[in-house]
Amino acid sequence: MNKTLGLYIHVPFCLSKCAYCDFYSLPDLSKKAAYTEALCSALRDAQSGVRERRVNTVFFGGGTPSLLENGEIKAVMDALFAFDLTEDCEISMEVNPATANEEKFAFLHSCGVNRISLGMQAASQRELCLLSRRHTPEELEECVRALKRAGFSNFSLDLMYGLPHQTMEDWENSLQSALAFEPAHLSLYALTLSERVPLYREVQNLPSDEECRAFYLRAVQIAEAHGLHQYEISNFARPSCSCRHNLRYWQGEEYLGFGPAAASFYDGRRFTESESLSAFLQNPCGLLSRIEKEEQNSSEDARAERLMLSLRLKEGVEIAPFATPAFLKEVQALESHSLATCADGRLALTPEGFFVSNEIISRLLLSAGL
Ligand code: SF4
Repeated sequence: MNKTLGLYIHVPFCLSKCAYCDFYSLPDLSKKAAYTEALCSALRDAQSGVRERRVNTVFFGGGTPSLLENGEIKAVMDALFAFDLTEDCEISMEVNPATANEEKFAFLHSCGVNRISLGMQAASQRELCLLSRRHTPEELEECVRALKRAGFSNFSLDLMYGLPHQTMEDWENSLQSALAFEPAHLSLYALTLSERVPLYREVQNLPSDEECRAFYLRAVQIAEAHGLHQYEISNFARPSCSCRHNLRYWQGEEYLGFGPAAASFYDGRRFTESESLSAFLQNPCGLLSRIEKEEQNSSEDARAERLMLSLRLKEGVEIAPFATPAFLKEVQALESHSLATCADGRLALTPEGFFVSNEIISRLLLSAGL
């Protein structure tokens, strides 16, 4: 049995909605217990249908998975352990600093969770308020101490840049504060505001593209100087501490997603559950049969996907499968503008290239006839 599989568990509940958030999550916990039960049924049902695959990554995302009670977490973990998990299975959980203390972390650790991803987002109280995050800088600091005391050394911090009114000084302050906690991993995301979120009212106060570019390049520099190496557009890690679950997405490996809005890639088919808690509660089982009904990707689609996903990674993409004359001309232009490098037959974007990767990828797809 050589194939491996990742499992994504979505927990669509939050204490309240953050002002910038457009994810599928509900600020109402009344269905949490029923949801946990449905989740366990969904996992058991899929487990009986998964063939010849060992699970080597699990990721609890949200929403706020750390809102689950200990008993609920235990029930989901028991359902997970019915899969064939590898001994070194990475089990990550996203944690909102407003929802966890040392007792909670100790419980997670004892259950088998071995990686924590903490939503820090910013260092200053002003920025946390602007984003309507529920934690203070002091609570974040206590949270990091608590997770370390509970035995977690493999933890990641999330930060956001491009916030309204943000200056380079604010951004460096967030980065330095995060790095002072000595995380094994850092995820840095640009704030994007949909018209549907309350923070959209601040859209005219966002930093310019040029400022955001400077924030991004400075972050790469600072993270690298602290031994956190960039391995993907938004992700940095100490050696051997890349998030193995997220790597699956970019390396085109299989995963099953459970819960509303969760995505799966299995047997060459992509599938996303509907964004409806009630639909999931009514019919939690049958994920594999729903996936089976999806059409398989055409080989053209699969190649386009490989190009798009691989170019998010520092290791880049093999050039040969795409090498039309137009593609090679684009590659040459990228190299001459220091937006990409070519070595050992692979094309890889530089940090400058990562910052404009959407534009670069569109041009490359076109030139490769995809
Ligand atoms: S905690 Fe995360 S998922 Fe929940 S509202 Fe805030 S940003 Fe969205």
